[in-house]
Amino acid sequence: MFVTKFKTFSFLFLLLPSAAQCFTLYANVSIQFDTDEVKVFTLDDGSNACANAGFTEDDLETYVKAAVKVWNKIPTSSLKLEAAGKFDPGNTDFTTGELCLWDSVYPPASCASATKVPQVSHIYVGCSTNANDNENFPSNDVYSTNILASTSINNISGRNIIGSVILLNAADPAVAIAALNDEEIIATIAHEMGHAIGLGHSEKSYALMHASLIGKKNNLSEDDVQGVTYLYPVKLDGCGMLATIQDINSNNDSQGPGSFFFNMILGFLICVVLKLRPKFLA
Ligand SMILES: [Zn+2]
Repeated sequence: MFVTKFKTFSFLFLLLPSAAQCFTLYANVSIQFDTDEVKVFTLDDGSNACANAGFTEDDLETYVKAAVKVWNKIPTSSLKLEAAGKFDPGNTDFTTGELCLWDSVYPPASCASATKVPQVSHIYVGCSTNANDNENFPSNDVYSTNILASTSINNISGRNIIGSVILLNAADPAVAIAALNDEEIIATIAHEMGHAIGLGHSEKSYALMHASLIGKKNNLSEDDVQGVTYLYPVKLDGCGMLATIQDINSNNDSQGPGSFFFNMILGFLICVVLKLRPKFLA
């Protein structure tokens, strides 16, 4: 127990000299899973849907396991993703719905009805083979079909995420994901997992949660760490949050290096006072 706390504090000290955070949250609001233990399933309906992306569903499961580890190694985050193996949708409603997540901006072109979309619990990762999947890989906007993957948090209760679906673009052999190496595919999936747990895009070009994959590694940047720590803070003897956010979805990099440091110290002092109070009163 002590060792765990020591590691956490040590890690926090590494963060103290950090620069301004500028991660964003999904849809500009703070939503997160209401549990720290979230399963991540690999969708496999036996149709080899990932073929055009250049790998099998067995490979995908391996990628998912690696991507899960990316988010699990942060001492200041209480979130624990669990690679939960394969999931066979088993019925056409789910298969169809999974490929046709409802969205008011890009209504699904190939789904009979948005009401067929299942609202999932936990996280599902699969490949989309639907070349006309205007919902997930809109062909009419700037992303065109070059978009690698898409995440939909399709089950929300209040400000809690209940479930998310991550789809990799395996629509045709020409899509970009087929050209990625293993590390880039893992980074892509880990990036989408970030969305699935409530993170938006970071303005930092070196962050995993930056919108572009260029130069992306599987390691999280400080910005990613602060984002996930904000959403899923480790509690130390009930001392509450260890990270804070200042300006959601802002391009302003001048938030100053003091904010994170200041809030950390303030939070720590409040915590100490609160914890010592009973002794003063005794
Ligand atoms: Zn993204």
